[in-house]
Amino acid sequence: PRPGGLPRHVVARVAPLGSRLVLALVEDRTRERRVEEVRRDFVANVSHELKTPVGAVRILAEAVQDAADDPEAVHHFASRMLTESERLARLVGQIIELSRLQGDEPLEHPTPVSIDEVVAAAVDGTQLAAAAKDIAVLAEGEAGLKVVGSEKQVGAAVANLVANAVAYSEPTSRVVVTRRRVGDDVEISVIDRGIGIPEAEVERIFERFYRVDPARHRSTGGTGLGLSIVKHVAATHGGDVRVWSVEGQGSTFTLTLPVQPERHTAPAQHSLAP
Ligand code: ADP
Repeated sequence: PRPGGLPRHVVARVAPLGSRLVLALVEDRTRERRVEEVRRDFVANVSHELKTPVGAVRILAEAVQDAADDPEAVHHFASRMLTESERLARLVGQIIELSRLQGDEPLEHPTPVSIDEVVAAAVDGTQLAAAAKDIAVLAEGEAGLKVVGSEKQVGAAVANLVANAVAYSEPTSRVVVTRRRVGDDVEISVIDRGIGIPEAEVERIFERFYRVDPARHRSTGGTGLGLSIVKHVAATHGGDVRVWSVEGQGSTFTLTLPVQPERHTAPAQHSLAP
């Protein structure tokens, strides 16, 4: 039931309205119920996922208390606590991001998004992680491409793909980010020669919280939410994301987004310059 009111389907049945409006209300109710189901599911998953790092932080804090007179042990437990709390912070941040995206609401103020800038920022953002593994991250392809939407969202999607490519590659390998125009779309591909994804798992990696072999990947500090964020960003922008992968050889993730239509192009103001 809606807060303080009749359930919407009852309103629809009794309302003395034209049939089209009643139908719209019933459809609205069906959609509402679906959204509610997704939300309930999500909350259940979130509570489950949060319990692990929260529990770990508590146990580690107790260990610090117990080891008060052993500075080395205190240092060890405290640094593990830091790792867990960083993971917790990342998890909470991604949960908030994803729940915003799951509304599937149309973008509020779509603006032109420069793919050059988005790619450069994503490459920049992984420099530290890449350098730690001596991995080279290279940006290639067509310059000057633009899509329309949210720079923050498209930026987060590309950053997630590049971060994954680095996280799931062996040291000293190479990650390439390319972009090109194909018809009315912009294709951004992130290519790695990393561990790849087993064929049976490829279908599932875009699900919320799904991780291939979580025990083995624990060291990457991942949350299993990155790719579902990418999928939602693609959907809200009218695009999609695909993956091609061979286990043990590498993966290519391709994010496809509609190119900025010509009519949105700003007038050539530079022609006024001296
Ligand atoms: P995570 O935070 O665990 O990286 P994602 O949703 O981004 O979560 O990815 C889900 C899972 O898909 C990862 O845990 C990993 O098993 C797999 N995966 C994602 N990207 C790659 C990649 N480039 N190479 C190999 N496996 C990947």
